[in-house]
Amino acid sequence: MKPIVYVTRTIPEVAVNLLRNYCEVIYRNELVPPSKEEIIENIRNVDAIYCTLNEKMDREVIDSSPKLKVIGTMSVGVDHIDIDYATKRGVYVVHTPGVLTETTADLAFGLMLATARRIVEGDRMIREGRWKLAWAPTMMLGHDVYGKTLGIIGLGRIGAALARRAKGFNMKICYYDVVRRPDIEKELGIEYLELEELLKVSDFISIHVPLTAETRHLISEKELRLMKPTAILVNTSRGPVVDEKALLKALKEGWIAGAGLDVFEEEPLPHDHPFIDLPNVVLTPHIGSASHDTRNRMAEYAAEGIIKVLRGEEPDNLYNREVVKIRPLHSIRMI
Ligand code: NAD
Repeated sequence: MKPIVYVTRTIPEVAVNLLRNYCEVIYRNELVPPSKEEIIENIRNVDAIYCTLNEKMDREVIDSSPKLKVIGTMSVGVDHIDIDYATKRGVYVVHTPGVLTETTADLAFGLMLATARRIVEGDRMIREGRWKLAWAPTMMLGHDVYGKTLGIIGLGRIGAALARRAKGFNMKICYYDVVRRPDIEKELGIEYLELEELLKVSDFISIHVPLTAETRHLISEKELRLMKPTAILVNTSRGPVVDEKALLKALKEGWIAGAGLDVFEEEPLPHDHPFIDLPNVVLTPHIGSASHDTRNRMAEYAAEGIIKVLRGEEPDNLYNREVVKIRPLHSIRMI
């Protein structure tokens, strides 16, 4: 009998086809994510769940699927999954590390440029018929990016990819991380600083940590007050890493110059959110990894991970490696 996989919502075709080669697929082909009740209703008899970051895989969900062996998520972040509980229950979690690194770093760099050089504001000015002076010595002045100091919080895959881009802009680069990366320090000639020091010296600060209990509100009032009044904050990690209330205050009161944000504490961002009225903020709707090629590759990679686990093989995109000790792979083999 083929293993059963529940796919929570519409994903690139390539992954659905791949899963169908090996599994019976319950495909919920809808853009909107399912409610928790709907997920629970559909996973009672499945061997695998294919989800995205919008579906919470908490204890209650995992417990409602007694045969569950693997959760595959089309994301590198796993903050929507109760990893400790999944591991305890012997449920493998596979994700999509690496394949979205360059695409997300591109967006982070794009947000730095767009915010510093007021690209979106300029576009809006033209469209709204407010461009009256052909060229004026003091019109729409922004901040240089070339040659400035970039502080990277979290020098993992995406943080390092951003650093490589910044080298091309002759930026001075520093980073803060819970893990020192001497290899990258040497490769790119970048400096490790404690968080407070990084916040004080950087012209641009870009966040690339995962959302965990330790990183929730890592950037709050105290941290924002340490930044330069000309600093620009970019967040393409997860919304709750930044305390939005504090950020709003910082942007309104000029503690910092601007922000480029792809992620928010509440998504979608409510239409009446005060960020929308601030000219010094560039907003994108959580599109860090949203290129055609990358989304296809992410979709496929999560599916490949699920299939590997169901084959009793260890996938290279396994997140909770300790699970192997709880439920050995050979005991899973179904295909
Ligand atoms: P990664 O695991 O390679 O890097 C994360 C880095 O953060 C690591 O170096 C780690 O040591 C560091 N870190 C962890 N906890 C920390 C802490 N408390 N303080 C300081 N540093 C800490 O991950 P990655 O592939 O670079 O992705 C980073 C995050 O970006 C993901 O977890 C995800 O949430 C987010 N992301 C968002 C988008 C988007 O669409 N906007 C796309 C991809 C990834």
